[in-house]
Amino acid sequence: MRININENFGKIKQNYLFSDIAARVKAYKEKNPEADIIRLGIGDVTLPLPAPSVRAMEAASKEMGVKDTFRGYPPEYGYDFLREAISRHYASLGTDIKPSEVFVSDGAKSDLGNLVDIMGDNEIIIPDPVYPVYVDSNLMCGRKATLVPGSADNGFLPMPPGKKGDPAVIYICSPNNPTGAVYGFDGLKAWVDYAIETGSLIIFDAAYEAFITEDVPHTIYQIPGADTCAIEVSSFSKFAGFTGTRCGWTVIPDGLESNGTKIAALWARRQATKFNGVSYPVQRAAEAALTEEGVKACMENIAYYRKNASMLSELLKSKGIFFTGGVNSPYVWLKCPNGMSGWEFFDLLLEKYGIVGTPGEGFGEAGSGFFRLTAFGSAEATAEACRRLSAL
Ligand code: PLP
Repeated sequence: MRININENFGKIKQNYLFSDIAARVKAYKEKNPEADIIRLGIGDVTLPLPAPSVRAMEAASKEMGVKDTFRGYPPEYGYDFLREAISRHYASLGTDIKPSEVFVSDGAKSDLGNLVDIMGDNEIIIPDPVYPVYVDSNLMCGRKATLVPGSADNGFLPMPPGKKGDPAVIYICSPNNPTGAVYGFDGLKAWVDYAIETGSLIIFDAAYEAFITEDVPHTIYQIPGADTCAIEVSSFSKFAGFTGTRCGWTVIPDGLESNGTKIAALWARRQATKFNGVSYPVQRAAEAALTEEGVKACMENIAYYRKNASMLSELLKSKGIFFTGGVNSPYVWLKCPNGMSGWEFFDLLLEKYGIVGTPGEGFGEAGSGFFRLTAFGSAEATAEACRRLSAL
């Protein structure tokens, strides 16, 4: 063929992180077939779906098999029953989001990747280290991001640039993947105030909201003025174990407009053109996760992961190793001891302790020399990992 391809793909750093990890683990396993390897590198949930969601999915699937209750294409923005349930979720957090401001999708990743479609050429500001989708989806359409580095000094919670610049699209992930750090009310207010003053847009990723235990914002709309400058993207993946079931949502408040154009109208047009909705059984399962019984079941699973996170945090505290996360997040982000790089620490953990984690280098330059452990393993495996690491 001689078609022109999107040359921007050449600018994306090939992310070999998880394949590199898999290759190193495989090589180690071949040399040490007896080794009992504990995997604390995964960012995927391991507990099954909450029972109310399973029941709802079964019932909805049966409806799909009966002529009178069969449904075809779902509405592009989600069934009213789910948009209303998500609106009630925001009401429970003391915020006022109308069902019409909620756009249901097949997950946060799709929305975060697709939102670039409705943006023009802007400055892009992204805290580093962070979930790589924000940087890569901008690079794919020829945009370049300015990274604001997190560090041990700012607790991996970078603040807005001191100098007020041009209007920008700002990505914030709180609680953060990979650092587990979470903005408090003042920190998030500083970003909202910056966005309002500079005419910028914040894209707030709340995928880990359910892990919050402290008095910090669960949604950016708890910050006054956010409804004039922020889109929020969220997900059932970590809250309800929907990583394989696929359902998320994006909130675009009615008041969000740029130079007189409503942002929600652009997103509605984008979705109606390129997306055909989420299946009915999945939306019923998501609705069930937000009922009183569903939330209770989801929070039992999250409590299980939280115990793992606190085992890992306690161990690091006892070792005097700097870390963030572990409290409002399934992630524990630690400074590699003795100035080691993330990869050196990876090899040490694997070879000496049989534990697999994720080197911070995979999440951006500011992640160098740090390491991510996750709480999504089993309680037994996490306890065994802590026992082994007590010798560290
Ligand atoms: N946002 C962050 C910060 C994540 O870490 C992830 C997945 O790991 C996602 C979004 C993706 O969510 P979803 O499964 O809804 O696509």
